[in-house]
Amino acid sequence: MLLLILLFSTLGSIGALLISALLLLFPESVRYRFVPNLVSYATGTLLGAAFLGMIPAGLKQAPVFLFSVSLLGGIILFFLMEKLVLWRHSHEDQVSSDTAVVPLILVGDAFHNLVDGVVIASAFLTSIPLGIGVSLAVIAHEIPQEVGDFAILLENGLSRGKALLLNGLASVTTLPGALLAYLWLDKTSTLVPYVLALSSASFIYIALSDLTPGLRKDVGGMATLRQLLLLIAGIGTIAIFHHGQ
Ligand SMILES: [Zn+2]
Repeated sequence: MLLLILLFSTLGSIGALLISALLLLFPESVRYRFVPNLVSYATGTLLGAAFLGMIPAGLKQAPVFLFSVSLLGGIILFFLMEKLVLWRHSHEDQVSSDTAVVPLILVGDAFHNLVDGVVIASAFLTSIPLGIGVSLAVIAHEIPQEVGDFAILLENGLSRGKALLLNGLASVTTLPGALLAYLWLDKTSTLVPYVLALSSASFIYIALSDLTPGLRKDVGGMATLRQLLLLIAGIGTIAIFHHGQ
């Protein structure tokens, strides 16, 4: 189990980072078309992983009211953390040129990826299909996230090599996050459903507070239809992992 957790944490951090670095090699017009589509898909996988995967799994292991309170508390916690700039998710179109923004991005990213590691570990400790579905949602939202981070770092004058190195350092925190959560939760399994509640809160928060505002800017029937289909495809991908569970 630990090997699976470490493998999928690596895919969700370094794997997503390398894919986003490769995307930077493509012309901007290609990225401009691809990244928003991935954001729609990622929103579906995050919501699917929370509502079809982690919430039903958590409710099987904990009293409904306590689980709901943890979920609600998690949403408020992520709101407060975003205020403290510990937690952020943005896309390419929000590029700002301010040198103070670089350390903030890296610290925020490192913390965010640490939480992603905890999410992956708690999902795998519940079941392997849940772990794989959740990891997929992590990979899907990390690629557009890292593309956005690269854009901001390059915009602020960092070389490509330095941007890759610093972004890489901020990404690997997923591994200690997953490892610590595994060691801790393996011994105190009664806490797993509550960590699943917080993990669901983080996915719902990323999907609705960070990703969908960007999607709302694309008005028009065709854009909305494409986003809707990709959103459903994201949910559908997660549903496959929970079929018959
Ligand atoms: Zn993430």
